[in-house]
Amino acid sequence: MIEKALFPLKGLSEDQLLNQIEQLKEQDVKWESGKMYGFVYHPGEKIAKTVSEIAQKFSHDNALNPLRFSSLRKFETEIVAIAAELLNGNDEVVGNVTSGGTESILMAVKTARDINRKTNPEIRTPELIIPESAHPAFLKACHYLDVQPVMVPVREDKRADVEKIKQAVNQNTILIACSAPSYPHGVIDPVEEIAKLAVEKNILFHVDACLGGFVLPFMKDLGYNIPSFDFDIQGVTSISLDPHKYGYAPKGISVILYRNKELRKKQFFIYPNWSGGIFASPGLSGTRGGGVLAGTWAILKLLGREGYQQMVKSVMTETSKIINGIESIPNLVITGHPDMSVFSFTSVKGDIFNIADALEEKGWFLNRLQFPDSLQMTISAGNIGKADEFLTELKNIVSNRRQLMKDKQSSDFQVAMAKGLSKVLPSNLFKKITNQSISKSLSDGNGGSHKQAAMYGIAASLGNRGNVNDLLENLLDKLYRI
Ligand SMILES: *Cc1c(COP(=O)(O)O)cnc(C)c1O
Repeated sequence: MIEKALFPLKGLSEDQLLNQIEQLKEQDVKWESGKMYGFVYHPGEKIAKTVSEIAQKFSHDNALNPLRFSSLRKFETEIVAIAAELLNGNDEVVGNVTSGGTESILMAVKTARDINRKTNPEIRTPELIIPESAHPAFLKACHYLDVQPVMVPVREDKRADVEKIKQAVNQNTILIACSAPSYPHGVIDPVEEIAKLAVEKNILFHVDACLGGFVLPFMKDLGYNIPSFDFDIQGVTSISLDPHKYGYAPKGISVILYRNKELRKKQFFIYPNWSGGIFASPGLSGTRGGGVLAGTWAILKLLGREGYQQMVKSVMTETSKIINGIESIPNLVITGHPDMSVFSFTSVKGDIFNIADALEEKGWFLNRLQFPDSLQMTISAGNIGKADEFLTELKNIVSNRRQLMKDKQSSDFQVAMAKGLSKVLPSNLFKKITNQSISKSLSDGNGGSHKQAAMYGIAASLGNRGNVNDLLENLLDKLYRI
């Protein structure tokens, strides 16, 4: 038996184990610093602790059988009812809890596909129309469900273009979807206008409020001018929203809501003839842990409407501060007019990824966008109070253009080299090399010192996006191996 077996022959002692856990955690990104914008939505130590303790009590319970676990059924139905209330749903609105925004979207697309199979059996290739800013979860859903995505360009202001959507509608369209707001630019699509079109053409219409569902209703309460985007609007037939984002719930929970129970029936899976018993389950998952349901229910009850309003108020104050600060820095521009606490910005000097690299060296993590190159920030409770420090850092970095330009030249040089090599090297050798360097850059993500500007440049310069696909396939393969 090798000594360092991954699966120990004798179990570790509790001390040994906790030791290892400490060390592992030490290598993770330090989001507790408040310097990572996105991925983590933390409600603060005290609440998080209470919620975890409650979640832990239910972590072995199984929501697959709501009849045996009546507490879990209560949690789930109340979470759904609260979500429906937030989004102006009437008594007809129904829904389910899922594992995340992706599953909610998958369910909405499946439901639309199956409703159309029944009502429009002549459709051979069902089509889903989405603005290009929509979350890739829609493309994943299409990929899994054999639905054809039809991507429509957005307007100058990054909102969905209703005219273009109208042109894309045809007899194969099973669903139109848009975002409230979109992840890249934090803008709410013109839901009301799209809904009109959907009603006129008798097409189902999904609003992806994964990000906005637990923010926009409270912004409305606080007097912000937020356009309608929910069940208030006739024509909206389903909405997704994520407690595990701005609901500040433990990870692994989203809600999918439908206008009525007839729609939702097409989401269910039922198989009464199994020798293992009659099987019925609402969504993709079979066994579902009770912990996340209990934790989510707990935080909704703990904070209450006013608690969320307070959080949203502080988050929006922080957001305005950062947006105004960025706008006051020469050559930096906010993209469009973001509607909530999610936005992006770019640099007219074309060195935005070098700025991101420099920020990262100082421990600030922003999200990199493309078309055009820009940086995205998702501000949530855990980031509050950091604006001044962040802006000072950003100003320093930007005012040191000489360094930035040097960094830019070196990444431009690497990109040019890569381009040159792609012409002279046999294509599989070139692939192998770029493959290695790109996967190294990406998997080094947390280190904070690794420059990503060149890697993004190389990826962007591969004219054939198919090459990028190959690279990423290999990267995923490598990442999920020991
Ligand atoms: C995060 C997100 C999703 C996907 O949700 P997951 O919980 O990551 O699966 C979908 N749409 C938008 C707008 C999002 O921000």
